[in-house]
Amino acid sequence: MKLTRLRIVGFKSFVDPSEIHIDPGLTGIVGPNGCGKSNLLESLRWVMGEASHKSMRASSMDDVIFSGSAGRPARNSAEVSLVIDNSDRRAPAQFNDADILEVSRRIERETGSVYKINGREVRARDVQLLFADASTGAHSAAMVRQGEIGELIAAKPRDRRRVLEEAAGIAGLHSRRHEAELR
Ligand code: ATP
Ligand code: MG
Repeated sequence: MKLTRLRIVGFKSFVDPSEIHIDPGLTGIVGPNGCGKSNLLESLRWVMGEASHKSMRASSMDDVIFSGSAGRPARNSAEVSLVIDNSDRRAPAQFNDADILEVSRRIERETGSVYKINGREVRARDVQLLFADASTGAHSAAMVRQGEIGELIAAKPRDRRRVLEEAAGIAGLHSRRHEAELR
């Protein structure tokens, strides 16, 4: 599974529709302090189903919506969509009938998030599992947040174990077990 395109509108400082094409190979994002580099990576984690507003540096999930600036009013919604090349067919079975997957997440103030995969509404869980499975294996994607290495060094053994489990590719199995136990 390759990430090929990211579309952002109304998310944090990305008030106007922005589209980023991710070509094969190495991509660098450069710019002065405060220009939105971390916001861009946060939009990627957000569309992948991030549930913690704290890890979005936000005091509630509504705070990811553009909050206004000099001369620009705040927006009431934000949307991020991610286009994935699934030609290697590594997506979970229920989504694995398409070469291209478009995952989107939209939030409106006070109403929470709606997720879609190829236009069909799905649960947050489905999106989280899609990416938990995709992060399995030696050639998979990995995300390392600003400050994360320092946090890892200072982490409690239990939290460090969670990172190792994710690296070992069993994070998706844990959340499936948790879901099965709830039923
Ligand atoms: P650095 O190089 O310092 O790490 P950066 O390029 O990673 O900087 P970001 O942290 O992505 O910068 O962007 C910070 C900017 O995003 C700030 O100017 C902040 O005001 C703006 N911002 C964050 N959330 C919102 C929001 N909800 N609405 C509008 N602007 C926002
Ligand atoms: Mg930054």
